[in-house]
Amino acid sequence: MNQPVLVFKKLAEILDWRIDQIVAPGVVMTMGNLHAGHLSLIRTSAQEHDTTVVTIFVNPKQFGPSEDFDRYPRTLHEDLALIQNLVQDFPHRKFIVFAPSSIDEIYGENFVTSVRVDHFTQKLCGLSRPTHFEGVTTVVARLLGITKPHVAYYGQKDFQQFFVIKKMAENLMLPYEICCCPIVRDEDGLALSSRNAYLSKDEREIALSLARAIVKLSNEVSSDRGALENLEHLSSFKKDYQHFEYLEILDANTLETINNKTQTMLIAGAIKVGKTRLIDNALVNLKSGPNHD
Ligand code: AMP
Repeated sequence: MNQPVLVFKKLAEILDWRIDQIVAPGVVMTMGNLHAGHLSLIRTSAQEHDTTVVTIFVNPKQFGPSEDFDRYPRTLHEDLALIQNLVQDFPHRKFIVFAPSSIDEIYGENFVTSVRVDHFTQKLCGLSRPTHFEGVTTVVARLLGITKPHVAYYGQKDFQQFFVIKKMAENLMLPYEICCCPIVRDEDGLALSSRNAYLSKDEREIALSLARAIVKLSNEVSSDRGALENLEHLSSFKKDYQHFEYLEILDANTLETINNKTQTMLIAGAIKVGKTRLIDNALVNLKSGPNHD
């Protein structure tokens, strides 16, 4: 019989627990409503760490005023059951869930700090979500300080988020490794997202046009062509996808325009389907071609 997963709902509880830990854990930060994408991050952490901390917190600071904070699915009971089920595959590992019982557990009245990464937050998703990444880096900095992990795991699905968090950790010399894990998809190719639950059947078909365009484009951009030619190809390709919020090719290591030194291209897009905004991307290694996860 596996140990039950320890669940902390109070900040003071996890801080007390963390003080007693000699070895730093792996951490996976989520907003809950867990799916196989989240679980793959938890598995990776558990493969590499004695203890994994999963945080579940719908962070109000990363939602814009007209976004879906209020209706974001909150399913703690089901989330804990999924983690308890996964634990069976790791009988010698420990799992902690930090699911703050209120927003005040994270942002009490003494909380007056904001962490902002410039430049890289002003492109791609930052164009339509100008305050989003500041909300992300602020909560991530706080959760890193609370959990003090060895490694924090993020999904490639939110590549810009991973990039910005890594930049923050580097710039602030935070002693935590920031790791990126592959995208998990449904059988039809749609990247798993808690927001997929908002989609009707017809909307899902429209949402799939983003994943399909990214696969098509990643097969078409090629290492034989120069950067400029690939960019010209992108602009003609985009004509068929004007309903996308954006579709871009950037250098995955710099998040800048690709050039002759680019080794890995990031092909990233966003689409709004009804009220639901979805993102997706692929990494294309110029030596070995597309890397379809
Ligand atoms: P969220 O709960 O949406 O904030 O996501 C928590 C973490 O899970 C983030 O690091 C996401 O990038 C990651 N994640 C979300 N969806 C997927 C997916 N389909 N595949 C891999 N990782 C994912």
